[in-house]
Amino acid sequence: MTTDATNPAIPNGQRTLGKVRPHQTQNESLVFEKSSPGKRAYKLPPLDVPAVDPAVLLGSEHRKVAGLLPELSEIEIIRHFTRLSTWNYAIDLGMYPLGSCTMKYNPRVNEFVSRIEGLAEAHPYRPDSLSQGVLEIIDLLQRCLIDITGMDTITLQPAAGAHGEFTGILLVRAWHESQGNPRRKILIPDSAHGTNPATAAICGYQVENLKSNAEGGIDLDALTRQVDEETAALMLTNPSTIGVFESQIHKIADILHAKGALLYMDGANMNALVGKARPGDFGVDVMHLNLHKTFSTPHGGGGPGSGPVACKAFLEPFLPTPVLTRDKDSAKHHWNYDRPQSVGRVRAFYGNTGMFIRALAYILANGPDGLRQTTEDAVLNANYIRSKLEDLYDLPYKTASMHEVVFSDKRQAAKGVKTGDIAKRLIDYGFHPYTVSFPLIVHGALMIEPTESESLEELDLFIAAMRSIAKEVEETPELVKTAPHSTRVSRLDEVQAARKPILRWKPETPAMIVHAGPHGSHDAMENLPTV
Ligand SMILES: *Cc1c(COP(=O)(O)O)cnc(C)c1O
Repeated sequence: MTTDATNPAIPNGQRTLGKVRPHQTQNESLVFEKSSPGKRAYKLPPLDVPAVDPAVLLGSEHRKVAGLLPELSEIEIIRHFTRLSTWNYAIDLGMYPLGSCTMKYNPRVNEFVSRIEGLAEAHPYRPDSLSQGVLEIIDLLQRCLIDITGMDTITLQPAAGAHGEFTGILLVRAWHESQGNPRRKILIPDSAHGTNPATAAICGYQVENLKSNAEGGIDLDALTRQVDEETAALMLTNPSTIGVFESQIHKIADILHAKGALLYMDGANMNALVGKARPGDFGVDVMHLNLHKTFSTPHGGGGPGSGPVACKAFLEPFLPTPVLTRDKDSAKHHWNYDRPQSVGRVRAFYGNTGMFIRALAYILANGPDGLRQTTEDAVLNANYIRSKLEDLYDLPYKTASMHEVVFSDKRQAAKGVKTGDIAKRLIDYGFHPYTVSFPLIVHGALMIEPTESESLEELDLFIAAMRSIAKEVEETPELVKTAPHSTRVSRLDEVQAARKPILRWKPETPAMIVHAGPHGSHDAMENLPTV
């Protein structure tokens, strides 16, 4: 295998997407750089009314200089954006093994259902009496999630996992306040997702770190020592971020409850539990779910998130307003705003309804047995990867893995190759990298989560890539340290990117400035903020 920069090594097993076309290898210039004056992507019919000076029409609102917009033909615009869209890696292209993120396939039937006209066009201001269909969907999803978590009640309002945490801890605080003392601190294990301490801090609590034991779980003695009358709650991720189920969870709940503290569960990893175990049955008081992880709704760019919060009945009075209520006599749903103890609204309207529809479609399409099967498949897939790679990659925690497996780069680091290098080399093999350097308790972590979406063939391709990279680390470490070799842009100067980010285009010469006709002026460029 060669490492010649002009002929970068294309590893065996790499997905080859056909012959490489120049536009697939060349960098794409910005639309601003492609712009040339006078080009248009549209043609309007001649004006059949008298022209009006925009300055007269808009008065002081009229801008003196035209916005610096690019000028291109339609086909240039279409090609530019279509080419850029092919640069993205997506779950629809291949495995996306980002640990902790649960990058599941987004089934098309969910998209279809959410686009049904009556649902897609339901307006949040439409009166409840005319929205019974959507409200029935929301109610059914609530009942399904309550059933899956074993909790008593739920709010679907929060728009993400972190937002769910925030809402959940607001409930904890409101309940403690109703008991006369909001309490001062929240305990968080050192394996926690970064959003947990951020949530506790933003809700006005002091964060107290709880050290994990040798198995990556909670040290019960340390917990007993640390819980006191000023402890509001413990925030616990289960299974944890190293993919380990906290088997002492019921004892943990007892220790907390004995001191009047509550157990918050970060339920972002529920994809390892659905259909198998219910947090409500093992002592959890309040938890959030990530519909965009466990229930297959799109992440990030694919759509907004959703982080429902489920809780026990004693926290119900504090749920965000409004809550969905069903009239006993008429069986009609309506939003109830009369909630004097509520923490208030955490979001406009009722939450990301389009995501509720998708998540419910996923739940109903799978049914109870199907959901249990997805959980088993997710766990099986992670353990398959673990068993096929543990001879080559260091496994810091030997405890049984659930839905994800966390290796460390200990062996490769001896050759000067770090987890980030291996991740970048994975790109050359046609895979999205795994999660790098998280959780923090594992030095040089490689966190891999295949989810239930992947077939045996796809897992084998991934395993082959990881094994091949381990071999390269032994034989040609430079090849890995300088990866990726197959992308348009290789390694960025990360310090410069963080310290001096170039966030907007600026013309190199004044000649490139687009004039705003008689009111235009070159001076406008001087007023642009520099980056
Ligand atoms: C993803 C995740 C979160 C945060 O969820 P967002 O929807 O990204 O805000 C919190 N905790 C854990 C363990 C997670 O994996």
